[in-house]
Amino acid sequence: MSNVDTVSTDVLVIGGGPSGLATAIHLADILKQKGPGYRILLIEKGSSIGSHILSGAVIKPDVFKELLPGVEFSEIPFNAKVTKDSLVLLREKSSITLPFHIPYMNNTGNYTASAGLICRYLANKAQEKGVEIYTGFAVDEILYKDGKVIGAKTKDTGLDHYGNQLENFQPGTRIEAKITIFAEGTRGSLAKMLMKKFNLTEGKNEQVYSLGVKELWEVPPGNIMPGQVYHTMGYPLNNDEFGGGFIYGLNDNKVAVGLVVGLDFKDPTFDVHDAFQVWKTSSFISQILKGGKLIEYGAKTLPEGGYYAIPKLFVDNALIVGDSAGLVVMPALKGIHLAIKSGMLAAEATANALLKDDTSEMSLQQYETLVYNSIIQKEMYPVRNFRQGFSKGLFVGGLHFGTQLITGGAGFFGRLRSHADNKTTLKLREFKKKPFKERFKGKLEFDKLLTFDKATNVFYSGVYHDEQQVVHLHINDPEKFKAVNIEQYGAPCVFFCSSEVYELHTKKNGEKELRIHAENCMHCKTCDIKSPDDGVTWVVPNGGNGPNFQNM
Ligand SMILES: Cc1cc2nc3c(=O)[nH]c(=O)nc-3n(C[C@H](O)[C@H](O)[C@H](O)COP(=O)(O)OP(=O)(O)OC[C@H]3O[C@@H](n4cnc5c(N)ncnc54)[C@H](O)[C@@H]3O)c2cc1C
Repeated sequence: MSNVDTVSTDVLVIGGGPSGLATAIHLADILKQKGPGYRILLIEKGSSIGSHILSGAVIKPDVFKELLPGVEFSEIPFNAKVTKDSLVLLREKSSITLPFHIPYMNNTGNYTASAGLICRYLANKAQEKGVEIYTGFAVDEILYKDGKVIGAKTKDTGLDHYGNQLENFQPGTRIEAKITIFAEGTRGSLAKMLMKKFNLTEGKNEQVYSLGVKELWEVPPGNIMPGQVYHTMGYPLNNDEFGGGFIYGLNDNKVAVGLVVGLDFKDPTFDVHDAFQVWKTSSFISQILKGGKLIEYGAKTLPEGGYYAIPKLFVDNALIVGDSAGLVVMPALKGIHLAIKSGMLAAEATANALLKDDTSEMSLQQYETLVYNSIIQKEMYPVRNFRQGFSKGLFVGGLHFGTQLITGGAGFFGRLRSHADNKTTLKLREFKKKPFKERFKGKLEFDKLLTFDKATNVFYSGVYHDEQQVVHLHINDPEKFKAVNIEQYGAPCVFFCSSEVYELHTKKNGEKELRIHAENCMHCKTCDIKSPDDGVTWVVPNGGNGPNFQNM
């Protein structure tokens, strides 16, 4: 302990995404009015702000006016105002553009954007207001005293694969804070520990997730207009698979394309990356990408359990915001404005707690009250049963959704439950339908022009991990993993991982062994979510490691 540095701050924000940056900005604004002397520290694991940010994105802009009241709206680096917004029923060789919007999917007044660019802009604003931002530091431990959160610690570096200290060993820094804000985004690894320790999900629905795989392209002029937005349903997904595609037209002949698929699929060999490549070959999408070139690639999960899966949001000295709290309106595929709003509300509760010198959970409860009296409640409550309704397939889901629309979200059955995504995969012998590779036979040879294999795609994410470190993907119980994940399920991680991290190697004696290429990891967290029997735990690797997204 003696050589571990300790720093003290009033507020520690873990994560430099929209939620963490909004917390910091709004808090700095409020506290400045009360006099100088408060310290706000924000730690981000990416090598720079934005380097780990991946979103669609079409953004609802109003919350930015609240967050940055003195700023000209035109200064915020949105890309293009949505000019055309269509839902397309996709088939392999044809498509039907629906003449209406499905409720909650209307994007009039919204803007296309790079969420990474928006975050870099917000980080500059935060720094101008006195927030200290440190990038390239991974926070991997919550600090407790007398059972209460008192801050967090950054990760020790300079360890070999077995955890032995090397010559360049650097102990992490203890950051002691009066209040810690968990803003780690989807499936936050510390938020997960916090929820477990304080039982914050008791009585709540299981959180469920989607995996989004995205590419940024530059296409010839005229292929798509800036602000032109399409969402697709159908091909290549079937009735058992929830999800769809997005195509967002950007300035300078850029276009963001992606496929988002619910992780409750049953096929143990389902591969979201490869499904995305197949999606691009449909005539509608391939026309848009024709003559273009790939610029960037990435993948990330998003929480879609909705209202009933929101955990308790406060404990003594700590709050949870944004995706870590599951604040996403799934039918709209939108979480950025709610992440920002939750950060602002957390800032208000935090400022009040600091000013009255009471950071107990009784005092911080105000945050949750504010959340349930805000647009977060207003937007999430009417669709509280949306995602659960689709757990039995698209047809049943559609019927549920119809009844929910006419009953204000209740449907005919009241609260619908959900099942953790790692419980929905079927074992190889139980899965009787055509496995993924057979379904798309002949379509999984990628030409590296329109379609890409995982290894090539990974190159376009700029991913990097230090070689010398303990592998950050922990197989919880190797023997059990072999018996269950490999033998019974056929190693689903090899298929669902969108970055080719997992490889099933057959040894000379025929025995199968899992090899982990942690250096490819995109930090999407799918393996932590989807591995049957809780096979894998994702922990944060060295700071500055991971993808290096520029405009995702
Ligand atoms: C494919 C896809 C498409 C989407 N499309 C849209 C859209 O069109 N519109 C929309 O509004 N929303 C969209 N969303 C959702 C939206 O991106 C999220 O709701 C939003 O980014 C959440 O913000 P956040 O700050 O909570 O988390 P994030 O944006 O994920 O930010 C969290 C940050 O915390 C950092 N971090 C995590 N753990 C640690 C740690 N231990 N130590 C230090 N740093 C850490 C991460 O590196 C990251 O930078 C989409 C999401 C996906 C995946």
